[in-house]
Amino acid sequence: MRVYNFSPGPSALPVPVLERAASEMLDANGTGQSVMEMSHRSKDFKPIIEKTESLLRELMGIPSNYKTLFLQGGASLQFSMIPLNLAAGDLPGKGKKAAYIETGIWAEKAIKEASKYATVEVKASSKDKAYTYIPEAPSASDEAYYHITLNNTIVGTKWDKIPNTGSVPLVADISSCILSEPLDVSKFGILYAGAQKNLGPAGTTVVIIREDLIRKTPDWVPSMLRYDTHAGEGSMYNTPPCYGIYIIGLVLEWVKKLGGVDTIAKLNREKAALLYNYLDASKMFYSPVEKQFRSLMNIPFVTAEQDDAKKTELETRFVKEAAAERLINLAGHRLVGGMRASIYNAMSIDGVKALISFMEKFEK
Ligand SMILES: *Cc1c(COP(=O)(O)O)cnc(C)c1O
Repeated sequence: MRVYNFSPGPSALPVPVLERAASEMLDANGTGQSVMEMSHRSKDFKPIIEKTESLLRELMGIPSNYKTLFLQGGASLQFSMIPLNLAAGDLPGKGKKAAYIETGIWAEKAIKEASKYATVEVKASSKDKAYTYIPEAPSASDEAYYHITLNNTIVGTKWDKIPNTGSVPLVADISSCILSEPLDVSKFGILYAGAQKNLGPAGTTVVIIREDLIRKTPDWVPSMLRYDTHAGEGSMYNTPPCYGIYIIGLVLEWVKKLGGVDTIAKLNREKAALLYNYLDASKMFYSPVEKQFRSLMNIPFVTAEQDDAKKTELETRFVKEAAAERLINLAGHRLVGGMRASIYNAMSIDGVKALISFMEKFEK
């Protein structure tokens, strides 16, 4: 019997995707081999990567002047690749100006990496209130790019509107919200996401980049860290994460069959509303996030208990008893504590209802 997995990532995958992958494990498409065993340059693998890319372009409405890349190194490597490609100087060291908005722990990490290769300006931060809101975005000036984290996985906030940065390219980390709601790709210069939240298994990173931002970077930037290297070779400069790309393709087929991103968004809003409504009415639990900025994907909650020792004991008990009822991975991030339910696209409404029934029982 399967669990309801509320993990922030790697996270649950749709059952039909896992079943299909299982059925094709020994013989994919009559090739007599698993996708894991195929040469990435073979005629058997080519249609797989092409299908994954065309489905992603179709479902996200990616305009034709953008490239879609399948890379490795996680979203974390993009924290370095973005400044290296858009802001690096002729010699290693701090290059051009880059704007960042600090809205959580992933944004902090992006800022730390960018500071090695760019002259970083943190234009706004919500650290003063433990990242429980999204700050007003100051306008861009002459920066090489402007970086935001669209959905903040750990603290459970999301940008309620996309900032207008004029001619400065807007770059967004969409690791934990890709395909959760419609997004106007044309407003961005670069979008990037590690696959392990909404798209597939860990190991593949999707980068969507406007073509004019794929430039010749300074010579000292390693080949593997340059967008021009990967874009020029159709993500095949070296061996891509083949099996991950195949599973992403199956997940995208599943999204399309459900009705596409609009349908997924409707389901996500329903799921999130059930949980937030329960939290807002509960006497034991509450959401620490400002309503306007609540994430649809990651929903942290804490108990109203004031005594620290009792609070920890209660929350530990909650996570343990939930797991005994097959509701797993509900502990909050180690840096923020409390609880968190990540309800990505693959989490069913039944899973959310099961969690709420358990919370009602626990509260009693
Ligand atoms: C998970 C996550 C990351 C880190 O992703 P890796 O693929 O582990 O590098 C970065 N940013 C956000 C918003 C995330 O949710």
